[in-house]
Order: sequence, then structure tokens, then C-alpha cells
Amino acid sequence: MEPEIIVYGAYWCPDCRRAKKFLGEQFIPFHWVDIEQDPAAEQLVLQMNNGRRIIPMIVFSDGSFLVEPTNAELARKLNLKTEARQKYYDLLIIGGGPAGLTAAIYAAREGVETLLVERSGLGGQASLTGGIDNFPGFPEGISGQEFSERVTQQARRFGVEMLQAVDIQKICRHDGYQCAMTTEDVHLHGRALLIATGARYRRLGVPGEDDYIGAGIHFCATCDGPFYKGAKHIVVVGGGNSAVEEGLHLSRFAEKVILLVRGDRLTASQILIDKVTEPRSPIHIRYRTAVQAFEGANSRLKAVQVLDVSTGQTDVLSTAAAFIFIGQEPNSLFTQGHLELDDYGYILTGHDLEHKLNGHTGREPFAFETSVPGVFAAGDVRHGSTKQVASAVGEGAAVAIAIRQYLKST
Ligand SMILES: Cc1cc2nc3c(=O)[nH]c(=O)nc-3n(C[C@H](O)[C@H](O)[C@H](O)COP(=O)(O)OP(=O)(O)OC[C@H]3O[C@@H](n4cnc5c(N)ncnc54)[C@H](O)[C@@H]3O)c2cc1C
Repeated sequence: MEPEIIVYGAYWCPDCRRAKKFLGEQFIPFHWVDIEQDPAAEQLVLQMNNGRRIIPMIVFSDGSFLVEPTNAELARKLNLKTEARQKYYDLLIIGGGPAGLTAAIYAAREGVETLLVERSGLGGQASLTGGIDNFPGFPEGISGQEFSERVTQQARRFGVEMLQAVDIQKICRHDGYQCAMTTEDVHLHGRALLIATGARYRRLGVPGEDDYIGAGIHFCATCDGPFYKGAKHIVVVGGGNSAVEEGLHLSRFAEKVILLVRGDRLTASQILIDKVTEPRSPIHIRYRTAVQAFEGANSRLKAVQVLDVSTGQTDVLSTAAAFIFIGQEPNSLFTQGHLELDDYGYILTGHDLEHKLNGHTGREPFAFETSVPGVFAAGDVRHGSTKQVASAVGEGAAVAIAIRQYLKST
């Protein structure tokens, strides 16, 4: 039987959201109790904390409990593997999404001793989605969770050592090895290092957003648009190129697409603006409109609460889905100052570096190799990547082959 975990918290509490997110990412079932809606639960929290109202309080099936735990404390309590068996590996991979896991499978299968480090749950962004419909080989689609579990199992079968809830905050070079430093100051070493830390979609940070991700709130029209074929309304948030392009794409599925733009003009390219503002455009644009909250029922998004920023009037728009396109950020902060990045923080690799061969004395970088020899990058964090599961998997396979060549050459 699954462990029964109860998380006592409140809607407004950021640490409660973090703890829930952490458990969700590990696919660990838990019950959520909002103490503001349940006086008996509030009483219990007070009683167990000597009269102090501290949340989140997480109670485990054996009766033990943690108050305001960090992710690392939660990981230890849940017996997740957070410590490496040894100090040195052939290959150290940061990031357990589709790119990192695929590279790990390819490398370990060929006998390359591989350690993969993941800061949250294995599977990456792909595990967040209710259904992946465009990955070849699954004619009926596959849930993000099942996909992630299958890839993780396959990596285990080939002996990949995997750590979870371990966050890398810096990379370095030490004694001829590439090294990565965790937030708990542990140093991990590899003859080669792969950065497969992906990217994250910028969020609005409004109430309800976290609750309906994958259940009406989406960040990828190519991935999730087809689920809304025949829908009456879809809301798109943003006014740049991605929002307009994705909005036009979504208009193939829904009767009406409403584009919510915070400012009083679009910032997309003129060609897209012309398309979206022409008289027969399938897109209805609401300028000076900010999202205030997402509302739902039965675990699905039902409506978006918006504010007219010039009049201060609020309004509730019923919608089948909301697609948010307010930008994407690569998870590459920890490489800054060590690797060459593009203007947006994506890692430059291979041919991108033709004119920047600082560290590569006397040879071209391998495919997917960064400005530092022996350090590779693949998947969404890489400049020029296409932000899809299938392409991340493809890059994972290709980078593993490039790393094999590198390891042979050293
Ligand atoms: C909600 C949603 C739905 C999607 N649906 C689809 C779909 O249907 N089809 C499709 O093709 N694509 C879809 N995508 C896009 C797809 O999931 C990504 O393109 C793909 O997951 C990228 O893989 P990746 O391995 O490069 O990075 P990620 O999946 O982002 O994995 C990177 C991993 O690195 C970890 N990490 C980051 N920084 C650190 C650090 N410092 N230390 C340790 N670990 C770190 C992260 O926690 C993460 O697990 C979707 C994305 C989202 C968000």
C-alpha cells in the first residue's frame, strides 16, 4: 500500500506549494488539508507545534511529522537516493529530463560509468503533462508520468546511478575532472560533464495557476492544442511572437481564441501583427488586460479572472484552456561565467562556437560540446534546441555518442 502522507497548509503559503510540488514531482500520493477551511486541522497543527501555527506540517504514515521541511529534508525522510556512491565517474549528467535520461541510457549501456543528478523528480518537464500525444511509438499517446517512469526504469536497468532532490549550484574544473557543486557543498566529478537542465516557462504567479497546470493551463500549443479540438473558447496570455504564433495555431482547434495582452499593443513581428489583426482574423485581442486568477472545478480549469488595467474593472472569462506565453528561461544560471551562453542564457555548443574556440586549442568542438572541452549540453537548455520531448530524446542519444568519442580521445 502507498504511504499515506498528509500535508497541512494554507492556500497562500509558498512553502506549502513547494512541498506539494516536490511530492507531486516524485509521484508520491498525499492528502492536502487547508487548515483555513478546517478548524479541527488547524487545532491539530497548533497542538503538535506547542501552540505555534507553523505550516506546512507534513505527517507520515508512521505518525512522525516534519514542519517546514526543506526539499533535502523531505527527500531524506522519503528515502530518496541523495548521495553518490563514489566521488569520480566517467560521465556526470546534470538534469533528469528526457535529454539527460536518454544520454544516461546510451552511455551506461556502453559501460560508461554514469551518475545523473536531478534537483526534483526524474522525468523533467515531460512528467508535468497529462498526455504526450506526439512522441512516436505511442499511437494512443502516453501520460507524462508514465513516460517518465518508463525512461527512468530503462536507465536503472542499465545501471545508471541517479540522485534526486540534489541541486547543482556551480560547475568547475578540479584535478583534471569536470566537477559540479551541490547546494549542500558536495563536489561530484566526471571525466565528462553533460548539462541537460532544460528550461522553464515563465509563469504569471497568480492564484490557481499551479493547481491547473496540465489540467487546462498549458505552455505548448503544438503539444496540447489538439486536446481542445471543438472547444468554444481558448485563452492565450501574452503579446509577443510566441503568443501570437501559438494563438494562430490554436485557432485551428477552438471556435474562438482570446488573446490577453497586458499592454496596449502587441510586441510581435509586424507580419504576425498583420495576420492577427486583419478583419477575418480568428483571434479576438483584449489589450490592457491582466490575469488575476485561474478558477476551476473538479480539478480542471473553468475560467480566468481578468482585470482591465485602465478601468480597474474585473471580469470572468469561461474557457476550456489557457495557454501562457510570456517567455521561457533556460536553467543555466549555475553555468554563468564558466560557459559561453547566448543573450538569453541558452548554452552555445558545437558550430555555434566556431568563432569562440577559446578553450578548444587545436580542435573543433564535438557536436553538443560547449566552450569548455569535456562539458556538453543537450535538450531545452541548449541554444537552438526545439523544445520537444522527441528532440530532447534525440539530442540525448546524439550527445552520448559525442561524449563517447570525447572520452576515447582523452
Ligand atoms: C506542461 C508541459 C507540457 C509539455 N508537453 C509536451 C508534449 O506533449 N510533447 C512534447 O514534445 N513536448 C512537451 N513539452 C516540452 C518537453 O517537455 C520539453 O521539451 C522536454 O522535457 C525537454 O527535455 P530536457 O531533458 O531538455 O529538459 P527538462 O525536461 O526541462 O529536464 C531538465 C531537468 O533538469 C533538472 N534541473 C534543472 N536545473 C538543475 C540543477 N541545477 N541541478 C539539478 N537538476 C536540475 C530539472 O529539474 C529537470 O528535471 C511540454 C512541456 C511542459 C512544461
